[in-house]
Amino acid sequence: MAKAYQRIMLKFSGEVLKGDGEPIDFGKLEKLCKEIKALHKKKLQIAIVVGGGNIWRFRDNSKKAMPRVDSDYMGMMATIMNASAMRATLERLGVPVRVMSAMPVADVAEGYSIRGASEYLDQKHVVICAGGTGRPFFTTDSAAALRGLELGCDVLLKATKVDGVYDKDPAKHKNAKRYESLSFDEVLKKKLAFMDQTASALCREGELPVVVFDLMKKGNLAKVVARKKVGTTVHV
Ligand code: UDP
Repeated sequence: MAKAYQRIMLKFSGEVLKGDGEPIDFGKLEKLCKEIKALHKKKLQIAIVVGGGNIWRFRDNSKKAMPRVDSDYMGMMATIMNASAMRATLERLGVPVRVMSAMPVADVAEGYSIRGASEYLDQKHVVICAGGTGRPFFTTDSAAALRGLELGCDVLLKATKVDGVYDKDPAKHKNAKRYESLSFDEVLKKKLAFMDQTASALCREGELPVVVFDLMKKGNLAKVVARKKVGTTVHV
């Protein structure tokens, strides 16, 4: 049987928090935080990178009304907003949690450092890494890959609204086939866009496996962590 995970990197796209006409659905967020609480009880070390797409992404600047870097910083600030909402919810549920930001926002979150985050994880705090990589021209998938490697995580769990990696877009093609497992080489060869290429290359180089799964299905997160067959595993 595969070895149990000890330290995980959980990547949430901002989309999973989005409500009907509102950027954050606090009901959804609470459900998600309860699942995180259940994992935390199992003594798992949990690092989280949260996206910002429910509030702002650089591509929302489609009319090029401002430079790309300004738009990217807005996206990074959006991740800090999501991280703040997640921290408040986890705290309300009694889960010890820290937000560490790659962008300085001293009144809201402490600065990210590898050593600091690792110590908090050892002390069984959930650590939310906010602000992406802190640099424009990256995504939070790349931030999750980078933080996952820096913190020595066993796996990157990419929580989305889709239940894995498909050979074509399942929303457009009824006959789209889902992969249970595939290698980073196959991902590159088949040009499968499950993560951006920077993130994918980082995971491949650092031999960090990725599991892509549907977070919306209740209990999926616990199943993925228990290494049950859920979603798609991408390995070296
Ligand atoms: N972003 C950035 N640098 C980073 C991470 C994110 O500039 O290291 C910006 C970028 O504009 C991105 C936005 O923040 O579009 C929100 O992140 P992302 O699109 O990855 O969020 P998700 O799709 O996961 O919700």
